[in-house]
Amino acid sequence: MIGRLSDVLIAGGGVAGSTLAILLGRAGLRVELFERGAFPREKPCGEGLMPAGVAVLERLGLTAAVGGVPLSGVRYHCRGATATGPFPSVNGIAATGLAQRRVVLDRVLFEAAAATAGVTARTRAVVERPIVDRGRVTGLMVNGTALRAPLTVAADGALSPLRRALGLDRAARHRRVGMRAHFQLAAGIEVAPWVDILLGAEHELYVTALPRGELLVAALANARVLDAPAELLFDRWCLGQPWLAERLRGARRLTRLRGASSLTVRAKRGVVPGMVLLGDAAGSLDPITGGGMTHALESAELLARHAPRAFAEGDAWLAQFERRRRALLLDYAILTRGLLWLARHPAAIGMALSALEAWPGVMSHLVGVAGGTRSLLGARRRVRWAVGAVGMAVGMGVLLVVIAGWMSPVVATAADPPVTQVAAAPAADSLVANAAATPATGPPGAALLAAGDSAIARLNLEAATAAYRQALVAAPRSYEATWKLARAIADRATLTPNREDQRRLCQQAESLARAAVALNPGGAKGHAFLAVALGKQAIFVGGKTKVRLSREIKAEADRTLALDPNDDLAHHVLGVWNREVVEVSGILRFFANTFLGGIPKASLDEAIGHLRRAAEVSPDVIPHRVELGIALASARRYRDAEQELVRALDMPTSWVTDDHYRAKARDALARVRKKLR
Ligand SMILES: Cc1cc2nc3c(=O)[nH]c(=O)nc-3n(C[C@H](O)[C@H](O)[C@H](O)COP(=O)(O)OP(=O)(O)OC[C@H]3O[C@@H](n4cnc5c(N)ncnc54)[C@H](O)[C@@H]3O)c2cc1C
Repeated sequence: MIGRLSDVLIAGGGVAGSTLAILLGRAGLRVELFERGAFPREKPCGEGLMPAGVAVLERLGLTAAVGGVPLSGVRYHCRGATATGPFPSVNGIAATGLAQRRVVLDRVLFEAAAATAGVTARTRAVVERPIVDRGRVTGLMVNGTALRAPLTVAADGALSPLRRALGLDRAARHRRVGMRAHFQLAAGIEVAPWVDILLGAEHELYVTALPRGELLVAALANARVLDAPAELLFDRWCLGQPWLAERLRGARRLTRLRGASSLTVRAKRGVVPGMVLLGDAAGSLDPITGGGMTHALESAELLARHAPRAFAEGDAWLAQFERRRRALLLDYAILTRGLLWLARHPAAIGMALSALEAWPGVMSHLVGVAGGTRSLLGARRRVRWAVGAVGMAVGMGVLLVVIAGWMSPVVATAADPPVTQVAAAPAADSLVANAAATPATGPPGAALLAAGDSAIARLNLEAATAAYRQALVAAPRSYEATWKLARAIADRATLTPNREDQRRLCQQAESLARAAVALNPGGAKGHAFLAVALGKQAIFVGGKTKVRLSREIKAEADRTLALDPNDDLAHHVLGVWNREVVEVSGILRFFANTFLGGIPKASLDEAIGHLRRAAEVSPDVIPHRVELGIALASARRYRDAEQELVRALDMPTSWVTDDHYRAKARDALARVRKKLR
């Protein structure tokens, strides 16, 4: 070490860099740590640390300084079902995760590094590029000065300028985005210390209870669902989850919405001669399993055990370190792949959740894998045992999920474009959750709504959708803009030939309608379009979810009629609902009655009664007559059915979906006339 100023240069004073600096300093090495920012600083994150990460903080002796709320485990919520996974105990001792603001955690770690003997920690020190001599990294250019050391570490985050400069970036296959905001809960409202994951339409919300009654909400989503400004989507998703909307009632927004535009980051290699990539710089897995900080902490510990060999063995140890790091993260990477596969196949989510609800031990074990305290091999054994014992087909869902994840290329080395701030909305004023609905009055909200109404009257659905969407941007808490956009999206779902697009649009309509209900629980239109959006989804889901949906559709339509007995749409929904429930297969009915608390009673008389009432209230609406004709045909009243269908076909066009319903009427009429022959 004689003649050198430092043994190790570390670029980036985040979780990985600061932890490594502390450990190397304590091991007697001379370390320089460069952080381009200053503390305290914000970092978009779900702010939940897994038990294995908490264990590293304990070994560092920093748990008291970090503080935070101990977390009991993870709960997944989907359409009223919840699967709960407590963190499994370790050697008989209860394991907990930790929730703490990054402004606190990162500051504590950096300050601990700065206070460690042998460590020089500098903020506002920008690492400009690596210095490479004959194929080996020998140092860094920092604020215009060349510095050299036997070992250089790039802990400069997911964007890693050093990784890019060395040509080690690799493209990611799927692009997901993340965003987060903090809230101060209203007095008297408490959120239990779990990571609550709410599964929505192609997005998930992560809710973490923080100290002092603060709450973090993070959203992760596929980039292609970003069809509106991030702030608006975030609000809509929060309001669209009744569980969350209830907890955020009266809450105050504390921080701006901040996010990352690419969550999976990959590197071609994690080590090169003279240099190690550490933490997110080496490749980050999607935060769907919430382990990024834990990996940063664990891999910093691993590197601290290997790094002293840099001075005795040259670069020979790097490959061994890299193998050990991959082994450390392998189970976790498999689990993350499995969950991402699920996130891309929403139809399988219900099945997997049912399986996990049925086997809490397996759920808890998988949460242990995510928490870094259990190995996946143990989980596979348990799943095999459960499958053998229970013999339920749903078990295969879990196995498929794990296998699908396993079959995708594993481990974090491969990646993507930059991570950036996605949105910056003014703090405190764009809180949705405590919101009373506001009318979209005054320009531009009212004018945009009027433009949407006029476009829909001209049967221009695309222009109407765009205008309603802009109205919602102008007035994010407008109930009217929200339900009208839900209606427009539901109509687009009706007219879309592609099944996958249809499913996605239905889910969007559902999330908007839920937001409308949250904004104005006493408004009939929100409930009516929620019933419509749910009804349209019934064809995409399997038996158990269908039964759950069926109950919710009826409840929402009943609620609409309680608020407005003359709502033709609710009568229409109840008419179609009765007809379809009557036609439910015997097997599903048996299953529903035996295991799922049954399906509410239905009859063709009720179906015909509701559809007749809908047609009386709104005689110009073609779909009411068409569905009435079909219900009459189901009741074998073919003459009456023919009459209604012919009448529907003679009616003038008044709505964008009329041609679609005319085609349906022609099909039904042909079948009815065959019966009459
Ligand atoms: C939306 C979202 C939610 C997440 N949720 C969770 C979660 O709930 N739990 C969890 O464990 N993980 C979560 N993560 C992942 C977690 O945030 C990261 O894995 C973790 O921060 C990685 O730590 P790091 O030290 O490698 O990088 P960072 O924490 O990003 O630190 C890198 C540091 O390098 C500095 N730097 C960059 N360039 C330079 C330069 N040229 N010169 C000097 N300094 C530089 C940066 O300023 C920064 O301080 C989430 C991530 C996202 C995006």
